[in-house]
Amino acid sequence: MIKYEKKLRCHMKRVILIKYGELSTKKGNRNFFINTLYQNIKNKLKSFDVSIFKDRSRMYIEFHDSELEEIKKRLDCVFGIHMYHIAYIVDTNIDSIKNLLIELVHDLSFKTFKVETKRSDKSFPIHSQEMNHLLGGVVLKNKIGVSVDVHNPELFIKLEIREDHSYIYFNAYRGAGGYPIGTQPKGMLMLSGGIDSPVAGYLAMKRGIPIDCVYFEAIPHTSLDARNKVIELSKKLAKYTSEVHLHIVNFTRVQEEIYKNCHPSYCITIMRRMMYRIMEKLANKYHGFAIVNGESVGQVASQTLTSMRVINEVTSMPVLRPVACFDKLEIIDLAKKIDTYDISILPYEDCCTVFVPKHPVINPSLDQAKKEEEKFNFLPMIDYAVDNVDTIVVCETEKEFSDLL
Ligand code: ATP
Ligand code: MG
Repeated sequence: MIKYEKKLRCHMKRVILIKYGELSTKKGNRNFFINTLYQNIKNKLKSFDVSIFKDRSRMYIEFHDSELEEIKKRLDCVFGIHMYHIAYIVDTNIDSIKNLLIELVHDLSFKTFKVETKRSDKSFPIHSQEMNHLLGGVVLKNKIGVSVDVHNPELFIKLEIREDHSYIYFNAYRGAGGYPIGTQPKGMLMLSGGIDSPVAGYLAMKRGIPIDCVYFEAIPHTSLDARNKVIELSKKLAKYTSEVHLHIVNFTRVQEEIYKNCHPSYCITIMRRMMYRIMEKLANKYHGFAIVNGESVGQVASQTLTSMRVINEVTSMPVLRPVACFDKLEIIDLAKKIDTYDISILPYEDCCTVFVPKHPVINPSLDQAKKEEEKFNFLPMIDYAVDNVDTIVVCETEKEFSDLL
């Protein structure tokens, strides 16, 4: 029995009924997934006067009507919710169900309808099909001018019969999907000011991976505007969690040394190998289990499979490339959906664009890359960059970013 049900006043009371969807398949891990989702929802709704309850197949949120729209907006950013309904709650007995349904359909305008019953409480004496007929009859008798249409009804009347209480609803809202953030260990997202990397971060979070963002900057070659752009992008990603840590790497020295010492065609390859080395060390420092980035196969010279292999060689850490096989237009669609696109297309240059050579090698050789790296002593520079990151805590709602750790 659900603990909270005793406390509820049932007449015309609504709750948000959350379905776990894909979570239900996680047999042994189920409780862990549900508890993580519960904590995430609680966190997201902490500024609202709500009560949240969970059982093995559903979560229920009691709310105040005036806050519903705002709550829905927050829930739409919680991964692990696949579907939710705003449901009327009623005692599980046939008369109460009938009476509430009569009241509810009285206020609704529709011509055709269909009743769908789910009988989760198998001790309830009337089977689902019988219930559909029975309630269909009740609606036909009490609402003039309506008829049943089982194929394409204007109104779906859904009833879920559970122990003690049942739920009637007419709507279905699609949740953000995916797995609750925190069901995987942390990933370190390489966040540039471009279009691809925020989308990669969003997709990684959707798989349950909390992220720290890492931005490589090369001041004075790059501007503070470029940094602010990345902060704004981090805020958009923070919408899906409570806050995001953004680590800013001072990459100036490493880049200058590369361009001073290495053959121009190999500069990008070497630069990216240096980035990966720094990423691995930062992952170790901040307990990350993977590097995440916005690389997309074939997009630029450093993202051919040959390049990726040579660049990837410096780390044994998993590198997730969520948009690896997406077309640019598909990535742009997602960027628009998560509201990062307009920020990403602002014109400020970042460290990759400032130093682009005319003819970067498309099919680099690993031997040559290693030879280029022998031309300067990069290890102390990498350690220096790792030891001197600036970390900013970015919240979705934060207007300023003065919160330097
Ligand atoms: P994006 O790929 O995000 O649109 P971009 O096209 O400028 O930006 P690429 O040159 O395609 O970036 O680099 C591939 C990936 O490497 C980026 O998606 C991002 O994950 C990472 N990256 C590039 N530049 C930086 C940077 N300055 N700081 C952090 N990560 C970076
Ligand atoms: Mg790119």
